[in-house]
Amino acid sequence: HAGAKPPPTPSPLRSSKFLQSNMRVLVTGGAGFIGSHLVDKLMENEKNEVIVADNYFTGSKDNLRKWIGHPRFELIRHDITEPLLVEVDQIYHLACPASPIFYKHNPVKTIKTNVIGTLNMLGLAKRVGARILLTSTSEVYGDPLQHPQTEEYWGNVNPIGVRSCYDEGKRVAETLMFDYHRQHGIEIRIARIFNTYGPRMNIDDGRVVSNFIAQALRGEPLTVQAPGTQTRSFCYVSDMVDGLIRLMEGENTGPINIGNPGEFTMMELAEIVKELVEPSVTIKNVENTPDDPRQRKPDITKAKQVLGWTPKVTLREGLPLMEEDFRKRLGVPKKA
Ligand code: NAD
Ligand code: UDP
Ligand code: UDP
Repeated sequence: HAGAKPPPTPSPLRSSKFLQSNMRVLVTGGAGFIGSHLVDKLMENEKNEVIVADNYFTGSKDNLRKWIGHPRFELIRHDITEPLLVEVDQIYHLACPASPIFYKHNPVKTIKTNVIGTLNMLGLAKRVGARILLTSTSEVYGDPLQHPQTEEYWGNVNPIGVRSCYDEGKRVAETLMFDYHRQHGIEIRIARIFNTYGPRMNIDDGRVVSNFIAQALRGEPLTVQAPGTQTRSFCYVSDMVDGLIRLMEGENTGPINIGNPGEFTMMELAEIVKELVEPSVTIKNVENTPDDPRQRKPDITKAKQVLGWTPKVTLREGLPLMEEDFRKRLGVPKKA
């Protein structure tokens, strides 16, 4: 071979002010509740360039307003059921309505988002060699017969119910992730997220924590759906974001449960919200919706071992932070 190779011509990106070690990160669903908190955390790292793709079905530009115009940030109105062409190193794939009233509103669209949307993001990951993280859900365990739920549990899911567009949709999304991993060598990460709460949740999206806080602030009765003894385990959003980033940066594909093991019945949650937010409100029993899981609590042994992650914020610490945000948005000042 004659002579040394000429130095490579710098690509426009590499020759710009961004250095080689910069990471381009796509966040689908980044205008939503968890996505926008994730974007805040990713933007804190000056080596990250963040691209958000969102169709604003349940998210809003308002959640990202502090980053609009920032040189390391880009916001694209895009529906992920359509192909997306961008050049990125990592994909946090969150796009999917998460609240039952929204995912049941247009179930066909929900399952398309889970299946075709995830397929498109995997095709993108394959083309550009990106690592992709899917935010799956504890709903893949359905109405679980094992308690607490470990990642090995296969679940108890109704394939033809009104929640199936979401929980079966996420199960197919997980299958697609593993098939692209095995067949095409794609680097995948799967988080199974348990109920998460915090500032910026949609005020009227029907989820239990947002419902109770909004009801307490409006002086309306807290609606506990029958029987009220069903349980959930609530994770504060900053803990969730920390877990997701650790999973992306670590070596384990998952699936890994990310959630707070503190378990409460819905009646207990109502009592706590009443005590912390507005002791004068009443609690009302109302009808439930079909296929509501009776119990849910993550076993987080794997997250502790593999990610060195444990949640830090308890429900009693997290609720007042969310209350503060809801007070501002609803215009209800704190009583003196
Ligand atoms: P969210 O509804 O606030 O955010 C979802 C975002 O995805 C929204 O901004 C929405 O506009 C966007 N989106 C929906 N369909 C889209 C499409 N076809 N194309 C582009 N964008 C689309 O919900 P969230 O609570 O932030 O949930 C984020 C992710 O975490 C979801 O994948 C959800 O399934 C998962 N998850 C959340 C919880 C929870 O308790 N919040 C629990 C388990 C799993
Ligand atoms: N895709 C995408 N962006 C890309 C590459 C692919 O949205 O950068 C979509 C593509 O339109 C296809 C899906 O991802 O529908 C799966 O792509 P893959 O290459 O795995 O499958 P194929 O195109 O061969 O069916
Ligand atoms: N729930 C309730 N009152 C409400 C909304 C929900 O008691 O106003 C109950 C619901 O029946 C379920 C639990 O709270 O048992 C969690 O519901 P959510 O929709 O927040 O989340 P998911 O069912 O997806 O866990």
